[in-house]
Parts: sequence; C-alpha cells; structure tokens
Amino acid sequence: MELKTGYFRNNALSARSLIVVVALVGAVTVGDLWLHRGSPPLGYARYTGYGFTIDYSQRMTVGESDLGGYGPPTDSAGIVQWRRQDTELEQFGVIWMRPEGLSTNVDKTPAGALDQLFGYIVMGGTMIGVSGGLETMTKDGHEGVHRRFTVEESGFSIPGIIGAWYCEESGKYLMLYLIHVPDVTRPEVVSQELESIWLGYLDVMTCH
Ligand SMILES: [Zn+2]
Repeated sequence: MELKTGYFRNNALSARSLIVVVALVGAVTVGDLWLHRGSPPLGYARYTGYGFTIDYSQRMTVGESDLGGYGPPTDSAGIVQWRRQDTELEQFGVIWMRPEGLSTNVDKTPAGALDQLFGYIVMGGTMIGVSGGLETMTKDGHEGVHRRFTVEESGFSIPGIIGAWYCEESGKYLMLYLIHVPDVTRPEVVSQELESIWLGYLDVMTCH
C-alpha cells in the first residue's frame, strides 16, 4: 500500500520554517519506506526505516532529510519529522547517528549525540535555548537522557523536549523530540501537554 504524504525540506530541526506557517513543497510517494507490520491503530500509519518504527496520526505530514537539510537521509545519519498544524502545531521527529559519525569533541554517549545535534541546529540558523539539565531515562532497556529546550522564534520561546539513547542492536544513537504549540495564534501560551505527548510517541516507537 502506498501512502501519499507531504514532503518538506528542512534545516536540522527546522523549527523556524515550521512554526512560521509554510506551504508544503511538492508531494512525493515514499511507498518503499512504509511497511505495515501488524496494524497501527485506526487513523494511524506506521513508519519503518533506519532502524526504528513509529506510529503517527495520518493527519500528519512526513519529511525526511539528512541532518543538514540538503539531501536524503542515509543509514549513518538523518532525520524524519512529522507535523500537523491547524490552530495547534505539533511537530516531532526522530534523529539517528552512528557513533563513528560523532565529532571527536563530543562524548560518545547519548548526551554527546545531543550536543552534536544541537550544534547542527545552531549551524542551520535556528536559535535554541536549553532549560534545566539533562535527566536520565531508559528506552527499551537502553540508558539515555532527556532534556527540555526552547526554539527562539519571532520573540517567542517555543518549548520542546528531546530524548536520546544508544541502541546497541541497531548500532545507532536515536533521538526523539517534540515541539507543541497549543494555539499558533497565541504562541505565548505554553503547552501543558508537551511531556505527555512526547511520552506517548516514545511509547509507540521501537528501536530494535
Ligand atoms: Zn534499541
């Protein structure tokens, strides 16, 4: 079964272009990336690729790229992002990197992979801030960390949350982030559901 999806180019997390309403550029069929193993819940689709599987609402559009936003993802590194926006904006994404792709000046740990990702985001021109410290987590038996961050856009601080862990089975650092704006006409209203929505995606993601 092939699903038509919107496709958007992006810069790293690409929060800038996404919080500002953007027209989706073109539409491509990514049927070869969709493998329906078992069945996602009604109204949901399942994405499988690059060492992970995740279910998402069919109301969301999906876009894939490398971490610079210049080309297609590779097995070594990349990002897939999902997004929907009406009065509410919800955007989440999965990022992966192999240990050999980590720069020598970051630790080969989930925290180091996050540092490298934040470096890419800043290089992509998006202003981000971090609030609070790293907190530990586990995902499918893997030790990891998560933290809150903000995307600074048009004078607003849009809060987000991101977690990172290392999956020994797939040999990859995996990261899952979420940005949620309950009312895009009032971006100063901070989401009270950020963590619970993020935990929901963490729950429906499998990495090995
Ligand atoms: Zn795993």
